[in-house]
Amino acid sequence: MITRQEITEILRGYEQRQITIGTLGSHSALNIFKGAKEEGFRTICICKKDAEIVYKRFPLADETILVEDFNELLSDNLQQRLRQKNTLLIPHGSFNAYIGAGRIADELRIPLFGNRELLGWETDREKQREWLQRAGLTLPEVFNDPNDISGLVIAKFPGAKGGKGYFLADSPESFHEKAEDMIRRRHLKREELENIHLQEYIIGVNAYPQYFHSLLRKEVELLGIDKRYESTVDSIGRIPAREQLRITLNPTYSIVGNIPITLRESLLPQILRMGEDVATVSKDVAPPGIIGPFCLETVITDDMKIYAFEISARIVAGSNVGIGTSPYAYLNYGEGMYMGRRIAREIKLAIKNNKLEKTVY
Ligand code: AMP
Ligand code: AMP
Repeated sequence: MITRQEITEILRGYEQRQITIGTLGSHSALNIFKGAKEEGFRTICICKKDAEIVYKRFPLADETILVEDFNELLSDNLQQRLRQKNTLLIPHGSFNAYIGAGRIADELRIPLFGNRELLGWETDREKQREWLQRAGLTLPEVFNDPNDISGLVIAKFPGAKGGKGYFLADSPESFHEKAEDMIRRRHLKREELENIHLQEYIIGVNAYPQYFHSLLRKEVELLGIDKRYESTVDSIGRIPAREQLRITLNPTYSIVGNIPITLRESLLPQILRMGEDVATVSKDVAPPGIIGPFCLETVITDDMKIYAFEISARIVAGSNVGIGTSPYAYLNYGEGMYMGRRIAREIKLAIKNNKLEKTVY
């Protein structure tokens, strides 16, 4: 694992008045670039050919570097080019999905706005669970073996696959039957069955609060909340029950988009405390703790109990619903604040106060 000291050394070679903000062209890149431009930074996009059209039609990247594969980000050549441009990278979901937290931690010698140690936690469900539990959050129960299933569970598979191949089961028999169906439909590979994670299915509605932990202000801000639009589970309500039964639906959870939500105000005390508690514990888990954006994935039941089932220690694509503004960002900042811009604002403030070293790893 690259040490914080190494990153600090790299940063000391940077011209801090000419920082470039860079990221992979995907996920929340438009959000990040727009925010960076609005705060006066140069931007650089590492992009695949088929996505280039996005950064041409929304011309927010001052420079685009085309790659065949996102893993080229780890090549010495490209890293050196980025360092020469005083680049800070903003990690998002595609970093873990296509490069992997392990390789980022070991091979990416470019300062990240974030804590690279915590990036890896989202791919390790055991570690996440421990972190959320230590923060005192309510979590769904976990079943270690498919044969122990009693009650409704959601079966999850490793890696940030965006819900693809997840399914529900309520008994060992239905689990095995549905797993076979998912393998047949190529949503799943047989060897992935070994790393399955079985979680109690919480009946309620999703809410994904997006937070920003400012090490400079020493505060956790709530910037927005979204819910997900998932295929095929969100389409079931459009099919009458009779037809549902006839075609024996086995829905899955592939993320397609996000929908902004505002919560009942009386839920906010709990939502705000959860963010603060998670950030506080993160300081013990991986010093200096969460830097900047993070998100909790929650389900809220009809008696207003909030279950947290995942955490992302980086910008989430759900924050794209706030590009421009969201009610919660507006309450603190007025118009024109959103996650990408909040990131750039923090970097700008850190540079001004000579504290950039504190906010990157
Ligand atoms: P992509 O570059 O679109 O394949 O995204 C990389 C990963 O981020 C995916 O595997 C998903 O897990 C996640 N992701 C992408 N878009 C969203 C979204 N709108 N909401 C939540 N997660 C997302
Ligand atoms: P994840 O990839 O863990 O974000 O999960 C994908 C989707 O599955 C979520 O957006 C929820 O719709 C659903 N989900 C995940 N875990 C649970 C749970 N324990 N209870 C209810 N729904 C869940």
